[in-house]
Amino acid sequence: MIRSVSRKLLFGGSSFRCNRLASTLAFVETNKEGSIVPSSLNALNAARGFNNDLVVVILGSNASKAASKLKSSIKCENLKKILVSTDEQFDNYLPEKVGPLLVNLLKDKEFTHFVTASSAVGKNVLPRIGALLDLQPICDITKIVDSKTFVRPIYAGNVISTVECTQAQKLIGIRASAFDPIAEGSSDTAVIEDIATVEGDSSSLQIEWENANLTESERPELSSASKVVAGGRALKDKATFEKLLTPLADVLHAGIGATRAAVDSGFCDNSLQIGQTGRVVAPDLYIAIGISGAIQHLAGMKDSKVIVAINNDPDAPIFKVADFGLQGDIYEIVPELTKKLEKL
Ligand SMILES: Cc1cc2nc3c(=O)[nH]c(=O)nc-3n(C[C@H](O)[C@H](O)[C@H](O)COP(=O)(O)OP(=O)(O)OC[C@H]3O[C@@H](n4cnc5c(N)ncnc54)[C@H](O)[C@@H]3O)c2cc1C
Repeated sequence: MIRSVSRKLLFGGSSFRCNRLASTLAFVETNKEGSIVPSSLNALNAARGFNNDLVVVILGSNASKAASKLKSSIKCENLKKILVSTDEQFDNYLPEKVGPLLVNLLKDKEFTHFVTASSAVGKNVLPRIGALLDLQPICDITKIVDSKTFVRPIYAGNVISTVECTQAQKLIGIRASAFDPIAEGSSDTAVIEDIATVEGDSSSLQIEWENANLTESERPELSSASKVVAGGRALKDKATFEKLLTPLADVLHAGIGATRAAVDSGFCDNSLQIGQTGRVVAPDLYIAIGISGAIQHLAGMKDSKVIVAINNDPDAPIFKVADFGLQGDIYEIVPELTKKLEKL
């Protein structure tokens, strides 16, 4: 059961006051080193667009460090407060732990909007908050029309819907690739405040974080990489996938992605899958190698700024979305392209 707490408990001894003006609460994620996750910077830019007072909440053992970093690294005139809780129960952002705290913040009707990135964490947390507050969240927003009207893709990107939200509080998830990151600079007037944990809410939950089994890589993170080299079924096997794609990705300092066919065939880890049931990316440059361009794959990459497709089938659908198409054998074109780029 969610126990409501008085504002005094929630905000400790601080003097947080509800000014009854519209304001936005933005949830910012950090990685385990305490750096702000890039998609949160895009979400902050979207949140800033509401043009009302912005309050950021950062949770987990690194929250204080991250709050200071955020304050000194982004330029946001309407950023008024950064609320932090360094309680380690929030590390890893288990929604069962994070949800009750955010719900208590949102019970303050001062907040007309709650904004998070539609990241794995955001997608985990948002529905829980929606259920606890009996509000309908709106996910994967690609455009904010006004304070209650949002654009989001549905049916794997085949339909772009514009939705109007009549709820007093709007819970929204931002598709990070559709928004620029917030401008760099500093937000000197923002105040950093500690918030107390909501006692009793999560300690009774029979859920604990065990461990994370993540693929460590020196490469740029796929969702935020400015260049992505992606391979499909034509790569034949894991060894060929790596042999052909890695040198090209190295020379371009690009992230590596794949189609579901490539993932299902065991060419690479499933964290590299791009598409409807994988990651959504929108890099400056996307090179599709031996990828047919199935609608489910396009759903994850068609917003890339420049798309280059290499395929031996002139009728491959990928050419319809490509800015540059190279028709031919990937086993000839990719090594040649890599060699030429290495010489630049
Ligand atoms: C519910 C659902 C969800 C899905 N989600 C996703 C998703 O998230 N992401 C995703 O990618 N897919 C997804 N799929 C699968 C999707 O429908 C396609 O099957 C998949 O994207 C095809 O991958 P591919 O392009 O690698 O393979 P193929 O469609 O087999 O294409 C291979 C391409 O390589 C070309 N080729 C072959 N040899 C060479 C060569 N030597 N030189 C040059 N070109 C060559 C061929 O001409 C062909 O165009 C989903 C499907 C369903 C039903």
